[in-house]
Amino acid sequence: MSNRKHNFSAGPCTLPLEVLEEAQSEFVDYQGAGMSLIEMSHRGKHFDDVANEAMALSMEVFQVPDDFSVLFLQGGALLQFSMIPMNLLTDGQKGAYVNSGTWAKGAITDGKEYGEVYTAWDGADNNYTRMPASSEIQLQDNTRYLHITTNETIGGIRFAEWPEVDVPMVADMSSEYMARPLPWDKFDLVYGGAQKNLGPAGMAVVFVRKSILESTNKSIGRYLRYDIQESKGSMFNTPPVFPIYMFGKVLKWMKAQGGLQAMETTAAEKSNAIYSTIDNSDNYFNCPVEVASRSHMNVVFRLPSEALEKKFLSEATAAGFLNLKGHRSVGGCRASIYNALPKSSVTALTGFMDDFKSSNPG
Ligand SMILES: *Cc1c(COP(=O)(O)O)cnc(C)c1O
Repeated sequence: MSNRKHNFSAGPCTLPLEVLEEAQSEFVDYQGAGMSLIEMSHRGKHFDDVANEAMALSMEVFQVPDDFSVLFLQGGALLQFSMIPMNLLTDGQKGAYVNSGTWAKGAITDGKEYGEVYTAWDGADNNYTRMPASSEIQLQDNTRYLHITTNETIGGIRFAEWPEVDVPMVADMSSEYMARPLPWDKFDLVYGGAQKNLGPAGMAVVFVRKSILESTNKSIGRYLRYDIQESKGSMFNTPPVFPIYMFGKVLKWMKAQGGLQAMETTAAEKSNAIYSTIDNSDNYFNCPVEVASRSHMNVVFRLPSEALEKKFLSEATAAGFLNLKGHRSVGGCRASIYNALPKSSVTALTGFMDDFKSSNPG
């Protein structure tokens, strides 16, 4: 498949070619059933096996302890912005949020509709160029959870160190999902949309601590209740069949690559390669993010002028480097280098950046 381009999309993102090809080969007639997986009952044996395997692999690959359950839900990460406060903010408890950028703000906006929610640290003061130290996070009494966005996809920042706080944490991990290990004892709930690092769009993967399910809110629509979704094994209604199937294949691919640790190491290597190119460019390329908070998944950078950025992006596209434009809200450039983006694409990109600099002096 020589016509595959270097796809630096922030989401939906590039997926492993092997996974796409395997799905293609199975698509029309799934394991001799005479029909596609997406045409058959989600309660039949074929899909049951697919779902069970995806659940088991997600616990295994992400090294999740037994006191958590995994849920496959619809509505993407965004519906979790509402489901979390709906379920967890009972008895007048408050939700604390680290405002680290665009996605955190979204979680705060939706949270306010369902309970008392406050900003425990605000990154607006530094234009969202870094994550807070634990000592900067200010929690109030009666706080049920601290919500963090472990990696801000648009700003290109991540928590290098996990916050040390006295309340359980809830994490939106969408854009670095299963790209690094987690200290699970600190978390009650971890979630993300699958389409950034784990599969096609159409599903949120949610890990929830089982012991909290007894005290979640029971006065909300049934689909929205974590306890019901958990007790039904994410089969309360028709689940997102195709995303679950693809996610299972991506997990198998991840395992074959060496699992979570391999993903973490590779992400560090790939992001380092681009940051080094930026840092060694005599300020031709510039990363606005504080070094300690630099994302390993979304590398944001600027060129000396907007005119040069425009030229860079158009020549990059012509050369087969796609989706390097920064988010419309911040401009500039962004290379999203999720798990399935080959190292060779990053090497090719850094070569292209160096060449562009030489032929287009600032
Ligand atoms: C993309 C993204 C979201 C939104 O995800 P959807 O699945 O589209 O709802 C939320 N949080 C973060 C950090 C993201 O990168």
